[in-house]
Amino acid sequence: MPQLVKHTQAPSETEAAGAELAARLTPGDVVLVSGELGSGKTTFVRGACRALGVEGPVTSPTFTIGQLLGDSPQVAHLDLYRLGSLAGEDPALLEDYLTPERVGFVEWPGVAEPQLERVAARVTLEHAGGDRRRITIA
Ligand code: ADP
Ligand code: MG
Repeated sequence: MPQLVKHTQAPSETEAAGAELAARLTPGDVVLVSGELGSGKTTFVRGACRALGVEGPVTSPTFTIGQLLGDSPQVAHLDLYRLGSLAGEDPALLEDYLTPERVGFVEWPGVAEPQLERVAARVTLEHAGGDRRRITIA
């Protein structure tokens, strides 16, 4: 995927950027979504999820590392912020969520990155002042 940079000025525009990427994804693809707290990772994933037919709320999972949303395709939305290190974790932890039938989105992918297969895109969001965000999709 060639690198693409987008500037957004509102959450709706970041959702639209997510939707645009979603149109190019197929089951089994995993998208890594990086950026500081509040940079818009979950907002981006929400837009992608909507485009993939997910109805209902899309928020970062709070008590688990991930949640399953929608169907056809099912979407796995993971947030590894609290994971710290994968050392000591069951190696099946990620495989429970990321399967060939699902499209996966992983916020705070850092610790898991070496283990993630089929990474289709890496998305990085940055604050650019106020409601502006810079989104890099590679
Ligand atoms: P993260 O998952 O990276 O912590 P969230 O998507 O949960 O971030 O939150 C982003 C916050 O920033 C939301 O409150 C959203 O309304 C706000 N926001 C303001 N402008 C934008 C923008 N251009 N894109 C995305 N979010 C924005
Ligand atoms: Mg989030």
